[in-house]
Amino acid sequence: MVEFWPGLAAPLFNGVALMLALGFRRNRAAVILALLTCASLAICGFAGPHLNQRGAEATRMFLPWLLLIAAALPERRLLARRNLLLLALLAITVWLTLYAPEHIWPKLRNMFPLGWLPWKSGLVATGMVLIASVFCLSRWLLARLPMEFSLGLVLLVVGVSLLPQVSSPAASTLMIVCGAIAVVAILHSSYRMAFVDGLAGLPNRRALDEALARLSGDFALAMIDVDHFKMFNDRNGHAAGDRALKAVAGQLKTTRGCDAFRYGGEEFCLLFTGARTRHAREACEDLRKRAAALRLPVRSQSDAKRRQASARRDAGTVKLTISIGLAVRTERVRAAVDVLKVADKALYAAKSQGRNRVVSK
Ligand code: GH3
Ligand code: MG
Ligand code: MG
Repeated sequence: MVEFWPGLAAPLFNGVALMLALGFRRNRAAVILALLTCASLAICGFAGPHLNQRGAEATRMFLPWLLLIAAALPERRLLARRNLLLLALLAITVWLTLYAPEHIWPKLRNMFPLGWLPWKSGLVATGMVLIASVFCLSRWLLARLPMEFSLGLVLLVVGVSLLPQVSSPAASTLMIVCGAIAVVAILHSSYRMAFVDGLAGLPNRRALDEALARLSGDFALAMIDVDHFKMFNDRNGHAAGDRALKAVAGQLKTTRGCDAFRYGGEEFCLLFTGARTRHAREACEDLRKRAAALRLPVRSQSDAKRRQASARRDAGTVKLTISIGLAVRTERVRAAVDVLKVADKALYAAKSQGRNRVVSK
């Protein structure tokens, strides 16, 4: 009978992480976790005492190859041909581990890999998994994908668990750590998907609604809108528009004494609470000035100039401005939704008074 801790807990943790990955459409993570769930089952001797040794050996023989392929694959839909191929390979290795006749097993042992590598030491297995980990970590560095960092970390721990000095219970414990890291990472990335705006890197409208529902005491809300942004896009292109929104979001993030949100489109919101409410006007004015001082790199503005410039790989800079409507909670206007409406009216006033200004109500 296999003990629950750490033996069965390892496949359980990885299985739960696998379900979460499937639920949240993290397909590469799901494939890696399917491999780790099977490996944890093999390590803990789930298939019966007579296969204990074989399970541990099979993990060192096959798992590094499969992890290396899974880590190198790009994110695709779950039933993409490459993923199916990998899962078919996994099914074959599981079948071989469970049912390969005794006389075939030593031949397999010599075959994976190439006969001459020191498999028994497990060091090559560790080395290969570490290379898989480096794949994920470099993706994280290049594309700033937090999920890749977690996968890299998981693979690092898997690599350690394959070292020859690590006993089966210790390897199972390390596999539990892998499952736990994966669960936390998937939940965290799903939280980010739900509450953080991908382009601006700021909390989104849903996060603002939640923050407003929790509000009490003094607070002020500022609605921010980029001026003539449609024209900005038309002149400089949507990609430059996206970069401009990122730059504005960067200025909001560094505005002290408030929480910043992307309200939607080219509109943002600042929330000042408690004593910080008194400095809201000052902070908004400072933000407006900093936004106006931004120099955004874009190609030349007219079509003809843009063509010439792109031929010369030339680049210019453009400016933008923002308008801000600020509203403070008062005895008369108490509810957050009403304060937001007043801020919206103030923003409208800022626009009609000529833009690039802060109007408070
Ligand atoms: P105003 O000064 O009155 O605010 O004029 P405006 O042109 O900024 O306002 P309008 O509401 O007419 O246009 C908003 C534009 O913002 C239109 C839309 O294409 C652009 N926009 C909204 N979200 C994004 C985005 O995520 N990226 C880019 N590049 N543009 C966006
Ligand atoms: Mg707008
Ligand atoms: Mg606008």
